[in-house]
Amino acid sequence: MRMTFVYGCPACGCMVKRMPWDAEDPGGIKYYSDQHPDADLHPNYPGLIACRDCGEVFIMSKRHLLGSVGELRGDVGWEELCKMPFGGSLGDGGVYLRSLELCTTDNQRAMLRLGAWWAFNREYLATGDMGVYRREDYIDNCRVLAERFKESLRWSDVALAIEMYRNIGEFDRCEGMLSCFRKSPLSKQLMAASKGRRIETFELKP
Ligand SMILES: [Zn+2]
Repeated sequence: MRMTFVYGCPACGCMVKRMPWDAEDPGGIKYYSDQHPDADLHPNYPGLIACRDCGEVFIMSKRHLLGSVGELRGDVGWEELCKMPFGGSLGDGGVYLRSLELCTTDNQRAMLRLGAWWAFNREYLATGDMGVYRREDYIDNCRVLAERFKESLRWSDVALAIEMYRNIGEFDRCEGMLSCFRKSPLSKQLMAASKGRRIETFELKP
């Protein structure tokens, strides 16, 4: 069943709806070198949302959760709530980075940093402008995240670190780490991009 969760904006108190995870038809999903969950499918991933009323950005934590749309049935304003648009997702990676102070745990901070990286990469994919890869906050963010993910025991996490090193042009490091893993469609394509001295995010071939 689709659950639409509703949050209370901590700034203005109005209700903000989160688009359900499976709201869109998953036909034609594309996969990218940064392993981002399809942007159309997961507009609010990771858990940061903007209030459509006042623009406040907040984390979709239990603290701000009011309940699901179904649970709020019968409450004052329920009918308006059903018609209300979903809370906005954030397009700009800089907004994620500026929201780091909202975090109370390291995991939340890592998710926001990941969100920033993905948002910057989406900006490049949408515009073709390589400028994002030269931004100081982009490069710093990649370094902080890669340090964290490279120690993980999960290949998918280490592959994030490898991709971040490629994004900031540390090709030797990227290739050295890749050579420790068995070949997969992802690792082969990352290796080819690194050998070609390419830093940009790209769509993976199946
Ligand atoms: Zn608000």
